[in-house]
Amino acid sequence: MELTDVKGIGPKSITLLNKLNIYTIEDLLEFYPYRYNVYKPINLENCEENTNVTINATIESTPRLSYIRRNFNRLSFKALTNNLLINVTIFNRAFLYKNLDVGKNIMLVGKYDKKKNTFVASEIKLGSLYETKIEPVYHTIKGLKNNQIGSYINSALEEISNIEDFIPEYLKDKYQFISKEEAIKIIHTPKNIEEVKKAKLRLIYEEFFIFMLKINYLKNKNKEVLGTAKTFDEKKVNTFIKNLPFSLTEDQITAVEDCLNDLKSSKKMNRLLQGDVGSGKTIVATTIMYANALSGYQSALMAPTEILARQHYETIKKLVEPYSIKIELLVGSMKKSKHNKMIERLKSGDIDILIGTHALISKDVTFQNLGLVITDEQHRFGVNQRGNLQNKGHMPDIIYMSATPIPRTYALTIYQDMDTSLIKTKPNGRKEIQTFVKKENELKRVLFHILEEIKKGHQVYVVAPSIEESEERNLHDVHNLKTSFLQAFQNKVEIEVLHGKMKTSEKENIMKRFQQGDVKILIATTVIEVGVDVKNATTIVIFNAEMFGLATLHQLRGRVGRNDLESYCFLISDYDRERLKVLESSNDGFYISEQDFLMRREGDLFGTKQSGDMDFKIANLKKDFKILLQVKEDSSKFLDTNQNLEEKYLNILKSVTSID
Ligand code: ADP
Ligand code: MG
Repeated sequence: MELTDVKGIGPKSITLLNKLNIYTIEDLLEFYPYRYNVYKPINLENCEENTNVTINATIESTPRLSYIRRNFNRLSFKALTNNLLINVTIFNRAFLYKNLDVGKNIMLVGKYDKKKNTFVASEIKLGSLYETKIEPVYHTIKGLKNNQIGSYINSALEEISNIEDFIPEYLKDKYQFISKEEAIKIIHTPKNIEEVKKAKLRLIYEEFFIFMLKINYLKNKNKEVLGTAKTFDEKKVNTFIKNLPFSLTEDQITAVEDCLNDLKSSKKMNRLLQGDVGSGKTIVATTIMYANALSGYQSALMAPTEILARQHYETIKKLVEPYSIKIELLVGSMKKSKHNKMIERLKSGDIDILIGTHALISKDVTFQNLGLVITDEQHRFGVNQRGNLQNKGHMPDIIYMSATPIPRTYALTIYQDMDTSLIKTKPNGRKEIQTFVKKENELKRVLFHILEEIKKGHQVYVVAPSIEESEERNLHDVHNLKTSFLQAFQNKVEIEVLHGKMKTSEKENIMKRFQQGDVKILIATTVIEVGVDVKNATTIVIFNAEMFGLATLHQLRGRVGRNDLESYCFLISDYDRERLKVLESSNDGFYISEQDFLMRREGDLFGTKQSGDMDFKIANLKKDFKILLQVKEDSSKFLDTNQNLEEKYLNILKSVTSID
């Protein structure tokens, strides 16, 4: 059965679903809600002050629509609920106006202020609700409504029979897990939250079980494989290092040695190069790519974003070109003719180092003799089972660069199949980034500071959590901030906006102008999180800092402090300030991620969901870590006692080639 066989899904919705990475019925069924709305209608008289409640009501007066500012409006009307006449107000829902006729029954969600007899609604729906309703909420995109996704899934659920279940029977018995089919049904159409918990636990367990099988499989596979013992002139490598614009730190030297030894060894290198933002991983990678070129092999470096790939290309090019190493950049947005020419040169061995984005793994990219594959910011790619970069070479050496300071316990579990080099200290001359948590009403001081920095010729990053004004929450967005900043600086400062939905050419152009110093303030979403390197930027201001995990904030902060200038980070937030203050007191990525872990905030040791995580559909490495540890134990026992795996497991494993 295919997606198109599901009732209601046409070609248009297929395109939209594909954008959400849904290609098959299984993908659709495993597209789990990320939270639930619970509606339980109550009688207003019994409601507690200042808590969110759901009530039924009838509209008693024609709504009044008033515009308070541009982009800010209010609807208000009178409504009757259980013989109580109340005033109802809702903000920014002008579009509801035409549907709210007198006499209509509605359901309201919001807070009631007894003294003012006013109900401030966050949600209004037509019709009445008589019993508790649980509504799954899915991550969605423009053009596809939440309830559309829900109805597709419901149709699919009706059709589906026997979903493959990967938890072995004896473990299902041990934990008294419900069947997979049942769990999937519950997750999408729950009757109560209790059963959701049970279903979730079971699905998380299974997802981890498969994950650990893959990891174990890789670990065993890597033990056996022989790579190529490469030979190169070590004197040349030493000269290269000596001629770098700075001397390497001790950790960098050790990391280089580790990698060079792996290159020389007949064992296939499989190394995690871990180091905090700004610790200088790129130089290490460059040195190894140079050595690899000396030994007559090609290297590929894959970065998660085009901006970052381009930046790596510029940096590395400067370092290696004096040694007649041929380096090129390959990205998705290139012209076809240029792309084709490059592919030809690559095939014939005329390119030593290829830098790029995901475009590197596309089918038509073939190397003459790919000997080294480096993946930057590796956690952003997830366990990849489809085609990948290293298949393009014959047992190439592998380096993963990661800036995520993963606590040791995680590293040991997730990366147990890899060797690790750790860069702990940052290059000399780096000053600590001075960090301040500020309230919204202290913004003026921050603006003064920004002006001072700009007067000194420095540049500033501003980060907001969203691109457009959101209906749901009151968050800063990049466009509104641009307007307010232009106003605050009386249009005298060059300000630009950068976000992930912009065209590549636009993004590049703005990045270039920021790099050249023409743009003074860059207002961006977290697209600047990874790796962007503009040395002259000395201040970063992050709005709605409460929305981000500490590890993400630390990464963002790493955009400044890239030379010996005094650098500053301002975290603007009225909430969750105690957690944010961890960043005021520490610049140590490892300490910060441990604190984040201890404070157990829901969220993102590994970045937000949008940025790809480790590709888990329901499990969360951090929140569900205890389950992972249990699964680790169970799965290795399972493998020990089952030398001949069932077909269904072999099917998953045969496509697993690496974690990248
Ligand atoms: P990472 O990729 O680990 O975040 P980068 O490799 O981008 O860090 O390095 C950050 C900055 O520090 C770059 O501008 C780089 O040129 C510089 N750098 C790297 N190593 C050293 C060093 N040993 N001494 C001085 N500066 C260095
Ligand atoms: Mg980097």
